[in-house]
Amino acid sequence: MTHNPASAIQDLLVFGEFGDVNPSVTDSVTYTFLSPKTMEEVFEHEIEGCFLYSRHWNPINRYLSQALAGMEGTEAAQVTASGMSAITSTMMQLAGAGDEVVSARTIYGGTFALLKNFLPRFGVTTRFVDITDLKAIEKAITPKTKVLYAETVSNPLLEMADIPALAQLAHAHGIKLVIDNTFVPMLITPAAHGADVVVYSLTKFANGTSDAVAGCICGSKELIGKLTDVNSGACMLMGPVLDSTRAASILKNLHSLHVRMRQHSKNAMALAQWLSAKGLKVHYPGLESHPQHALFGKLMRPDMGFGGMMTLDAKDAATASKLMAAMQKDLVGYLAVSLGYFKTLFSAPGSSTSSEIPKDTQAAMGLTSGLIRFSVGLDDDIERTIGRVETSLKSVGLLR
Ligand code: PLP
Repeated sequence: MTHNPASAIQDLLVFGEFGDVNPSVTDSVTYTFLSPKTMEEVFEHEIEGCFLYSRHWNPINRYLSQALAGMEGTEAAQVTASGMSAITSTMMQLAGAGDEVVSARTIYGGTFALLKNFLPRFGVTTRFVDITDLKAIEKAITPKTKVLYAETVSNPLLEMADIPALAQLAHAHGIKLVIDNTFVPMLITPAAHGADVVVYSLTKFANGTSDAVAGCICGSKELIGKLTDVNSGACMLMGPVLDSTRAASILKNLHSLHVRMRQHSKNAMALAQWLSAKGLKVHYPGLESHPQHALFGKLMRPDMGFGGMMTLDAKDAATASKLMAAMQKDLVGYLAVSLGYFKTLFSAPGSSTSSEIPKDTQAAMGLTSGLIRFSVGLDDDIERTIGRVETSLKSVGLLR
């Protein structure tokens, strides 16, 4: 693959006001103009190096956006205050009253709720499909469909979207393919496989320190221009602007993302292999038992591994709860939602991050009540961690 996301970020040369190695953090919401005429012009069209008002653009948000566009290989990008605002703004820009969306059914619970409960209030309805069933997707597309939506690797079941096939299908019907790549930054670059828009929760792996909520939309210059249009842009008018101090810290963390993703992948692979060898039911794209293992192999950067997310079926909700409490006590990691942190995090999605999804839909998706989602951390000694997991599993009777 010619596009190297880490190198694209590394090659962005941005200095601070005094030649500082990090760009200066802009601590202002508004910007002065030497002439009223230039101000009028900036309202009409963008002028390189000119800023108007921070909700529209500010320098550090622009640098972070450029880094993310570089990472994804898209023409442009726009950072936002959260992953949800990136998704909401994208959907509201691309679809309006009377339009339809076709979406994978196994997606983050918040996105599911947005599409199922919230957007219908504005006349945008969604048909949910099994994203691995291309025939069902094609059947769900109607002349009103504007967007095909999926996650590269779905939350929480780690189902893989066949992005090239979805792009072909979407483009044959003149609709946009929007992919949430939150789980696998650097590992897979959806735009290189045909996605039109790539959205992120930067809150997770991209930032990696669980200290900031942020999001991003990567796409064409035309789309980003529309999103930031002062008269009709979803980002400009709904206003999910990322705080500039947070943008500055995320930009710094982005430079170590490739190193972190390799370590997340290495540790998750070791833990998944060990659990699987013990006869436990594990979902991890790096295992040959994963239904889309070969597809992941086809789309990934070969040197980055299969990512830090895995799930373990702990049989039932009660055992899952006991196991998570034991793992927290045994210092495996934290019982907490979210992902992409340097420590291991685990939670039961059926009663937490996917609780917005009705129980019958959860059952149809294969989301069982005993399912535990792991975001495997950056542990230096994963064998030590595996020893601790073994202790926890034995204490709840899942291992002898
Ligand atoms: N997309 C995915 C795959 C997620 O897991 C999440 C949050 O968990 C989001 C989007 C929403 O991101 P945020 O919490 O930054 O709004």
